[in-house]
Amino acid sequence: MEEKLRRIGADALQDLSSACTLEDLNDLRVKYLGKKGELTQVMRGMGALSAAERPLIGQIANEVRASIEKELATRTSALKKLAKELRLKDEGIDVTLPGSPVLRGGKHPLSIVTEEIQKFFLGLGYNIAEGPEIETDYYNFEALNLPKDHPARDMQDTFFISSDTLLRTQTSSVQVRTMEKTAPNLPVKVISPGKVYRRDDDATHSPMFSQVEGLAIDRRITFSDLKGTLDLFMREIFGPKTKTRFRPSYFPFTEPSAEVDISCVMCGGKGCRVCSHTGWLEILGSGMVHPRVLEVSGYNSEEVTGFAFGLGVERITMLKYGIDDLRILFENDLRFLRQF
Ligand SMILES: [Zn+2]
Repeated sequence: MEEKLRRIGADALQDLSSACTLEDLNDLRVKYLGKKGELTQVMRGMGALSAAERPLIGQIANEVRASIEKELATRTSALKKLAKELRLKDEGIDVTLPGSPVLRGGKHPLSIVTEEIQKFFLGLGYNIAEGPEIETDYYNFEALNLPKDHPARDMQDTFFISSDTLLRTQTSSVQVRTMEKTAPNLPVKVISPGKVYRRDDDATHSPMFSQVEGLAIDRRITFSDLKGTLDLFMREIFGPKTKTRFRPSYFPFTEPSAEVDISCVMCGGKGCRVCSHTGWLEILGSGMVHPRVLEVSGYNSEEVTGFAFGLGVERITMLKYGIDDLRILFENDLRFLRQF
C-alpha cells in the first residue's frame, strides 16, 4: 500500500508539472484529490489495515496529499501570473507605431465662393434671406412682372410641378417675399443665396445651379449705387485690378436693366480664348427694380427706389478657379475636391 501511495504521489507531481492551463490543474485536482480521486480511493482502504500499520500508512498518505496540494498551489499561481502577463502584452499599446491618419473633409468650392460672397455683403450691412425651392407661379413670375403667357418666360425653361407650382428658376422669388414682409419699412438690404432649377444640361449649364440674388430698397437709391456696389464686389472676388462694365439689357423685373461684364480674369483684358478675344467676361444681370414690382410688394414707387442683381455661383467659381467644365462641380470626384 505504501508503494501504491508513493507511486500516486510521483504520478501526480509529474502530471502537474506538465499541465499548461488552469483547467488542466483543476482536472488533476479532481483526478487525485477529489471524492473519487485516486488518493481518496486508496485511503478508503485503510480500514482493512492492522492497527500497527495504520499510523505509518496514514502518515505517508498525508505527506503525499500535502505534496500534491503544495505543487497544485505553486503551479496555479505560476499559471495565473503567466496568464496576466500574456493579457498585458496583448492589450498593450506600442506608442512608437505610426498613427493611422484621420481623413478631414473640406469645403466644396461652391460653398467657399458662396461664403465669400455672403461675407462681402454682410460687411455692407446686408442680411441673408431664404425662400422655398418649390415656389408658386406668383412669386417666381407674376409678382416679378412676368404675367402668364409673357414671352420673357421663355428665357427660363421651367420645371413645373403643377400649373401653379414649380421649381424656382431664380432666387429673385425671394425678393418679393422679403419686400412683402418688410413693407412699408425701409431699408431693404438682403442677399438670397440658394439653389435654382432650369431645363438645361451641358458643359456650362446644369439643371440645378446656385444663385445669389441681391436687393436694396430705400429712398434715393440710384443706378450709381448699383454700379459702385457691384464694382467693389467684383474687385473683392476677382482682385483689385478687375474692371467692370455695364451693358444695357432686358429683364422683366428691372428697368433700366444691365448686364455686367468684368475684365477677363485670364488675360486681364488683352483678349484670349476664354473671353473669345473680347477682353471681357459676362458675369451677372442687374438693374433698377421695376416700379410694378415695388408696387406689388407694398412700396410706393414714387417714393422709393432700389436695385437688384443676380449672379450664378457656378460661373463665378469656374472663372475664379479656372474650371472649364461645370459638371465637375457636381461629380464629387475627390481628386478634384481635394484641391480646395
Ligand atoms: Zn481673356
